[in-house]
Parts: sequence; C-alpha cells; structure tokens
Amino acid sequence: MVEINQHIQDINQGDPDDNHPINRSLLQRAIGRRGKSRLCGNLAQFERHVESVETGKKHPLSCRVCGEQCYSICGLCNKPLHFFPNRGKNLGKNCFLEYHNDSFFGLAVEDCKVMNKRKSDWVPLSLAKKKVQKRHIDFLMGEPK
Ligand SMILES: [Zn+2]
Ligand SMILES: [Zn+2]
Repeated sequence: MVEINQHIQDINQGDPDDNHPINRSLLQRAIGRRGKSRLCGNLAQFERHVESVETGKKHPLSCRVCGEQCYSICGLCNKPLHFFPNRGKNLGKNCFLEYHNDSFFGLAVEDCKVMNKRKSDWVPLSLAKKKVQKRHIDFLMGEPK
C-alpha cells in the first residue's frame, strides 16, 4: 500500500523518482556535446519506422532518396528506401536513415517538388550540401548550432 501511494505521489508530482540512478546532471553529462555523444536524441519515433521495414521485395522500386533501384520499403511511410542493402551496387546505402532525418528534409529525390527543382537535376549530395541543409533546418527548428 505504501508503495502504491508512493507511486501515485510520483505521478502527481510529474517528477521522476529521486532514487532513480539516472538524474538530470548525469544525463546532461552523458549527452555532452551532441555529435560526439552516444545519445542521439529521442529515437522512439524513428524506431517505429525501423520496425515497419520490409526488405527482400521481389521487384525493384525507385528509392525516394537517391532514385536508384531498391528492394525495401518503409511500411509506415509506404516508401521505397535503401535500408543498408548487404549486396549489389547500392551496398550499405543509408537512404532510410536520411529520409527520416529532420536535417535531411529537402534533399531527397522526393523533395524536388518542395525545393522547386526538377527530378532530372537531382545529383548525389556532397557532405557540404548536407551540412548547409542541416544548418538551415536547425535554424528553423530553433535549435542551437
Ligand atoms: Zn536510396
Ligand atoms: Zn518511414
């Protein structure tokens, strides 16, 4: 009974349990500088997309990020995307990850429309171009650089 009351109290306070080994400062230290940290933000949403992946499709589809042939889709988005293929000329491509990454928005083949570009003008992206886009998206999201 005491335990239950304690639990209810925790919920009411909306505050994490004081006895939890992970407190705010420990978490902040683990996050440290983004970019070097093991922790990459809350990926719960991304996890749902990963869980919906279907690989080994029989017929080739056009990847929504790079336009090349691929054999996997994100079930949640219902979009063909390279999911780290383990063979072929697109070996290891991470289009799935890029497609779901905020800071990549605007750079996929599929984004040509919102970017007012022609699909035929799309070229594989340089690291510099990705960085510029990330900075722009971060700015729009109001996140520190
Ligand atoms: Zn691709
Ligand atoms: Zn998805």
